[in-house]
Amino acid sequence: MIEAMIQNCLKQNKIAYQTFDDSLTFQELYESSLSLAIVLNQKGSSPVLIYGHKQKEMLISIFACLLANRAYVPIDDAWPVERILEIMNQTQASCLIEVSLFPYDVIEKISPVQKKQNIPLQSLHNEIAYIIFTSGSSGKPKGIPITYENCDNFSQWIAGVFPHIPDSILSQASFSFDLSVVELICCLRYGSAIIACDRTRLHDYGQLFQLIDRYQPSSIVATPTFLRMLLLNKEFDSHHYPFIDQIYCCGEMLLCDTALKALTRFEDLILINAYGPSEATSAVSAVQINQEMCQSKYLPVGDMKNLACEVTIINDEIVLSGKSVFHGYLSSSKNIDQYFTGDLGYIENDLLYCIGRKDSQIKYKGYRIELAEIEQVLSSVPHVEQCAVFPIMDSNNTVKTIKAYVTGDISLNTVKEELSRKLPAYMVPRSIKIVDQIPENANYKIDRRRLYERFKRNINGNL
Ligand code: AMP
Repeated sequence: MIEAMIQNCLKQNKIAYQTFDDSLTFQELYESSLSLAIVLNQKGSSPVLIYGHKQKEMLISIFACLLANRAYVPIDDAWPVERILEIMNQTQASCLIEVSLFPYDVIEKISPVQKKQNIPLQSLHNEIAYIIFTSGSSGKPKGIPITYENCDNFSQWIAGVFPHIPDSILSQASFSFDLSVVELICCLRYGSAIIACDRTRLHDYGQLFQLIDRYQPSSIVATPTFLRMLLLNKEFDSHHYPFIDQIYCCGEMLLCDTALKALTRFEDLILINAYGPSEATSAVSAVQINQEMCQSKYLPVGDMKNLACEVTIINDEIVLSGKSVFHGYLSSSKNIDQYFTGDLGYIENDLLYCIGRKDSQIKYKGYRIELAEIEQVLSSVPHVEQCAVFPIMDSNNTVKTIKAYVTGDISLNTVKEELSRKLPAYMVPRSIKIVDQIPENANYKIDRRRLYERFKRNINGNL
């Protein structure tokens, strides 16, 4: 796979990565990555943290790690330092590539920009390509190691998912989110240019559409939340944006009305709904959505005739096995053959459906969150006695916000500060309330149903 990536870079004479005001050709990408890979080569074999956001040096650093055969661990610069220290500890990483400024002297920092050296690259024997961290119900982030073999399998499969390999892709996801693996593979392996939309642009509608206008991506890789956001612009249609011909959605449920709106606005649009957890290399199934499918309650998430791995349903749960599936979490010695996703699903007419969760994992704005992790962190705050965290859903059954109730002799500010110190901003509940009591059921467990009922009765959230 790496050799094919190198050949792809050498063959392309065009832009590989475009941000609002900076760009990188494939040739420059290869040369810069090679220089950095040679430096990494001399610094051991443990995983390498890459700290940054959507700068072009992120792509250089990722490719450099692949070339040097050292597992990369993408760390978004918006994450709190405690989480990063925990990741450092779990991965035993010995160095960090400083794409964004990392203001702590706890690890060796390496600049992503290195001088050219005439030293041959040495090949290491490392099976892990990258480690993505996701929310863990034990209260700590979970590391998911993905092997080169997993990536290779995904790479071959994804090429057949798009009716044609995208010329350029608008990329919205942070590199610490597995959705980004789609555009990374399309770019490094198949020559698609990535048009990167950073956090600031994502939240500034004017600038977001300016980016699209200026660089004209032929495809978009997005969470359904991001697609819905794009569709809020009434001019987001084939008349104003004729260059967009493929939209790939993954990461959370794509609602029928969102899909229908997109298909109506863009007449010849290829709209792909893909499904899969980080544990199985980004996605394992995909299907092209048509208007007829949008008349049902749920949209399919995959065509059983074109899967990246084996997919079965056991007791209503989607279970994955085979080449795309990881071998086990970083901090666990348990070897995984079959991965029980926790997703409720079924198969009908050769189409796979995913209709919800068995547990308290949620997707909020595309982010995967274990409510139990927030509860664990909350309950570790000194003087917090009891706590309950639950999502508030909107009429489409998507998470509108996260709410927390806390009991104990503690101030609201302290709770908020402690949570922000330990959790990424998207995991900190929007509304936190200090209350006298949290209802319990007959088994002395938090009565979530009663809590939610009370919340609905009193929309201000007073218990
Ligand atoms: P992540 O590991 O962040 O990619 O999250 C994986 C989880 O997102 C899956 O286990 C599902 O719960 C959910 N998910 C991913 N794609 C879809 C989809 N197309 N429809 C519904 N849920 C999805």
